[in-house]
Amino acid sequence: MSRGESTELPLHVYNSLTRRKELFDLRLGTTVKFFVCGPTVYDYAHLGHARTYIAFDVIARYLNFLGYHVRYLMNITDVADRLIERATQSKKQPLELAREYEQAFLENMKALGITNVEGYHRASDYMPQITAQIRGLIDKGMAYQTETGVYFEVNKFPKFGQLSGLNHDELGLRRLELCSSKKNTEDFSLWRRHDAGLRWDSPWGEGRPGWHIEDTAISITNFGETYDLHGGASELIFPHHEAEIAQAEALTGKAPFVKFWLHTGLLTMKGRKMSKSLGNVIPIREALGQYTAEELRYFFSSFHYREQVNISDAGLRRARSGLGYIGKNFRVFQNSTPTLGKRSRALNMIQTAESKFRNCMNDDFDTPKALAVLTNLSENLSRLAKLGMDEPSKITAEQAFRRMSNVLGILS
Ligand SMILES: [Zn+2]
Repeated sequence: MSRGESTELPLHVYNSLTRRKELFDLRLGTTVKFFVCGPTVYDYAHLGHARTYIAFDVIARYLNFLGYHVRYLMNITDVADRLIERATQSKKQPLELAREYEQAFLENMKALGITNVEGYHRASDYMPQITAQIRGLIDKGMAYQTETGVYFEVNKFPKFGQLSGLNHDELGLRRLELCSSKKNTEDFSLWRRHDAGLRWDSPWGEGRPGWHIEDTAISITNFGETYDLHGGASELIFPHHEAEIAQAEALTGKAPFVKFWLHTGLLTMKGRKMSKSLGNVIPIREALGQYTAEELRYFFSSFHYREQVNISDAGLRRARSGLGYIGKNFRVFQNSTPTLGKRSRALNMIQTAESKFRNCMNDDFDTPKALAVLTNLSENLSRLAKLGMDEPSKITAEQAFRRMSNVLGILS
C-alpha cells in the first residue's frame, strides 16, 4: 500500500470492565454519550483534577476529530458530608459554599481549555430523580430501610466486584460505611437520615442521598438506561463506580450500564499521591500563575492517561521547552513566503503524519506518541518551508497541523 492510504487501525480503548483493549465499535457520525465524575465542590480544584479532566478533554476532542458527536456531561457533587463540615467551619450555608467552589472550578476548566463539556449537573438539582431511583430499588427488593436510612443490599447483586476485580471475601473486608444498622458490612447507603444540616424530605425521613446514587440519577436522566463511556480517576473504581453499576443494573435490568469504563492514573508529587489529606496539593489557579494552560496540557499529554504521573518543576520545564520547540518550528513554517511549484512533498508528508497521529491515538489514546508525531511534523514543516512551498500546500499543511494540535489543545 502506498503512503496515505488507509493502513490505519480503528480506535481501540482499554475498558476497565473487561481489563483489555477493545474495538470502539460505535458507528462514526453517531452520538457518543460520555459521563465523567466531576468534583466535590468543597475546596479549590488541584493538579490531580487537572490531570484527569485534561485527559478526558483530549479523549472527547479526539472523538470529535474522528467524526463522532460527543455529548459530554459532568456532575458537580454539591451534596456531601465533607462539604457540610467545611461549611460549618466557615460559618456558611453548604450550598452557598458549594456555589463558590463550583464557580472557581468552572473558571479553572475554562482556563485549562476544557471546553467540550456540554453540561455540568449539580446533584442538588436531581433530588426527585434520586428519590425515584431509591424507591425503585426498594420496590425491586434490592435495597432496605433501617432507622438510619436506606442501603443497597450488595449480596443481591452477584456481579458486584466485577469492575474492581474484588471477590466476595475481599469485599467483606472493605468496611464501606460504619453503621450498625446495616445487614452486611459491604452494603452502601442510598439515603442517610439527618435532622440537621443540608437535608431534603423523603419517604424515609429527612436526610441526604449517598454519593453513588447522585451520579446514576444524573446520568440515567440525561442518557437513558445505558450509555457509551464513563470516565473518572482510577481511585473511583471502588466503591464508587462499582456501586453505580450495581444501582443502575439492579434498577433497570439492562446490562452493561456503561459499555466502556475509562480510568486515569494517579498524580503524585515526590512519589506521594497529591491529595488534600496529605497536604501536598497545588491548586490549579496557582499552577496557572507559573505555567500556561498549554504547557500543563503538553506535560499531561506526554504521559498516557492510564499511567501514574509524577509532577515536578523539572518535568514542567521540559514540557515548556518541548512546547516552545514545536511552536518555534511552526512559526518558521507559518512566516515563510509561499513559492511556486514544489507541491507534492509537503502534502505526502502531511498525509503520512496525520495517518501516524491517528494510529497513535487509535491505540487507546496514546498521546505521548501522538506528541512525538506532532513534534516531528513541526520539524519537517519548518525544513520544507525553508526549501519553498506553494500556497495551496501551505494552507493544507497548516490546517492539518492545527487539526492535530487542537486534539491535544496546544498551539491553538
Ligand atoms: Zn461519580
